[in-house]
Amino acid sequence: MTRITLVEGDITEQQVDVVVNAANSSLLGGGGVDGAIHRKGGPQILEECRRLRASHWGRGLPTGRAVATTAGRLPARWVVHTVGPVYWEDEYEDRAGQLASCYRESLRVAAELGARTVAFPAVSAGVYGWPLDDAARIALGTVAATVAGPARELTEVRFVLFGTAAYGTFEQVWLGMGGEQ
Ligand code: ADP
Repeated sequence: MTRITLVEGDITEQQVDVVVNAANSSLLGGGGVDGAIHRKGGPQILEECRRLRASHWGRGLPTGRAVATTAGRLPARWVVHTVGPVYWEDEYEDRAGQLASCYRESLRVAAELGARTVAFPAVSAGVYGWPLDDAARIALGTVAATVAGPARELTEVRFVLFGTAAYGTFEQVWLGMGGEQ
């Protein structure tokens, strides 16, 4: 059984096997949680991202995909970088599918690495503009479904929400889905 937990806090401080980064497709860093991970994790993460870009992802990592690097100086073993979709109502169905894919792919990569514990931020819910309650619904629904199947080796998937508003929204959605805290 995988526990799904919610905490309010900073993802760069989590002692877990995998920290998931809401990256952009360039893999070369950005603002928000991406900036915080690179700042705290140090230059080794960016070096590996550059190598991945050069070897595999010259045109950028496609939206919905995930790749792993070292976690550098973070108290984690790996960072899994995933590229969330920018919110756009006109293409809601496609993009919601891509957002779900971010969670599925990140969990797949984590399970392949042999990770037991994974921490996620609210992918796409910052600069990429996804409404928080809908981002929470997709995130929690997808993770709950994935840990019942392909990622069942994981012991904990932790959502690390930045600020009380984000935490409160995730908690409400999770309780509404019958989840336990
Ligand atoms: P995106 O471009 O995918 O929207 P952002 O980094 O802008 O990514 O935001 C994603 C979510 O991560 C937002 O809810 C934001 O508040 C949150 N966030 C920002 N910094 C941190 C952090 N250090 N730890 C956890 N979550 C964070």
